[in-house]
Amino acid sequence: MKKIIIGILSLGIFFSCKQQSQEISEKTETVVQKTEVKTPKDNFGIVIHGGAGTILKKNMTPEKEAAYRAKLEEAIKVGHTILNNGGTSIEAVQKTINILEDSPLFNAGKGAVFTHHETNELDASIMDGKTLNAGAVAGVTTVKNPINLAFEVMENSPHVLLSGKGAETFAKEREITLVDPSYFFTERRMNTLKKVKEKELQKEGEKTAAFYDADIKDAKFGTVGCVALDKNGNLAAGTSTGGMTNKKWNRIGDSPIIGAGTYAKNATCAVSSTGWGEYFIRAMVAHDISAMMEYKGVSLEEAAKEVIQEKVPALGGNGGIVAIDHEGNIAMEFNTAGMYRAHMDANGKLNVAIYKEN
Ligand code: ASP
Repeated sequence: MKKIIIGILSLGIFFSCKQQSQEISEKTETVVQKTEVKTPKDNFGIVIHGGAGTILKKNMTPEKEAAYRAKLEEAIKVGHTILNNGGTSIEAVQKTINILEDSPLFNAGKGAVFTHHETNELDASIMDGKTLNAGAVAGVTTVKNPINLAFEVMENSPHVLLSGKGAETFAKEREITLVDPSYFFTERRMNTLKKVKEKELQKEGEKTAAFYDADIKDAKFGTVGCVALDKNGNLAAGTSTGGMTNKKWNRIGDSPIIGAGTYAKNATCAVSSTGWGEYFIRAMVAHDISAMMEYKGVSLEEAAKEVIQEKVPALGGNGGIVAIDHEGNIAMEFNTAGMYRAHMDANGKLNVAIYKEN
């Protein structure tokens, strides 16, 4: 009898434990599912540009267009893979820009435009939205990938912006890849310089501001930039360029200027600019978009529209931006005929475009 009672009690305890453990595991499952829905991984994303300007379909060959689209796709997939694997937005920005810098199609690294003296002077900057740390270089002539040097300035120097010979000395110290200046040569960019110079000679004696304006307004720019949001909710932005064709006097544009060409802040957004640098500096484009979100509480889309469609043109400038906010919303805003651009979201959905529509 005693044995039977003990047996019944044991069975009772066994079943109640089983039920409890089932309940616990169901609860755990629910919790896990909830956490999965809430995890920021749904929000990661990346946006790139390869410059804005007078990019018209009628001036494109199908081969050239296909080459641009393929390179944009290749580049953005590099960054997307890094983000998908849990890498940082800074790494994604840097590695994505490296692909564009190495391509002669874009005005950054190999394929950079020529200065008046037939040299290439490169500018770049990068910014970490989590720490507001930033690094930039201007006027370097032997650095294969200027964005990598900007990263070194950010990570391993007490400064934000280095220029010219000093920046190159720092590059040597940090063992950054250096190349002979001839590495940057492309026939296409040299031809553009020659054409611009010929025009300049023809108009000798009537070099009014309007003359320069007309020339610059018609130029294809081609700077490259990238913004990203990683799985940890951190934003980053970077920009790299050869600047503007026929530039003189060690002219420096907006690309290495934090707040103008590049800006990232986790609380708001990450922005990379391209366009007529002088106006982007005067309008502090990248920071202005972030500040409008922060102080006015407007969306990224609204802020980007107002700055690119109203504030910059009101000054007389043109160009565009790509941006991503802390929720993964994006903007690809430009007031020129076209802008080379691409976007990939957390689901791997890819969108590559050049002209107004696509
Ligand atoms: N913003 C660059 C500069 O003024 C040019 C460009 O975006 O293509 O140097």
